[in-house]
Amino acid sequence: MDCLFCKIINKEIPAEIIYEDEHVIAFNDISPQAPTHALIIPRKHIATLNDISAEDTEVVGHMVKTASTIAKQLGIDESGYRTVFNCNSDGGQTVYHIHLHLLGGKPMGWPPYQEKLKEDLS
Ligand code: AMP
Ligand code: ZN
Repeated sequence: MDCLFCKIINKEIPAEIIYEDEHVIAFNDISPQAPTHALIIPRKHIATLNDISAEDTEVVGHMVKTASTIAKQLGIDESGYRTVFNCNSDGGQTVYHIHLHLLGGKPMGWPPYQEKLKEDLS
């Protein structure tokens, strides 16, 4: 399958892997947006959040649990962190294999959209 993250799972493309087990792997984002920026992905190829089936809920829960485990290991659990799933184009998804972003090490901004867009929404 022509999927970047499946290639990372299969070790066809290198990545800085920071955690792996039977169901998920986690690695540092190639273009970090915070001092800590890791991606947690399932070994199973699931394209978007819209493609999660009932049988996938356990692995998705495990991705979230893994994010908190990694945050603790990296010492950002108490200072805090952001976890994000982007879905499709409005969500900003660019790689179509679901991944949970783990961002931390500095205060995060909120909301994620810009003032101009905010005005357009009102
Ligand atoms: P998203 O925009 O939510 O689909 O996130 C995709 C993320 O994958 C982006 O933050 C990219 O920087 C990251 N990314 C793309 N290619 C690689 C790669 N080869 N290794 C690690 N991270 C990558
Ligand atoms: Zn994939």
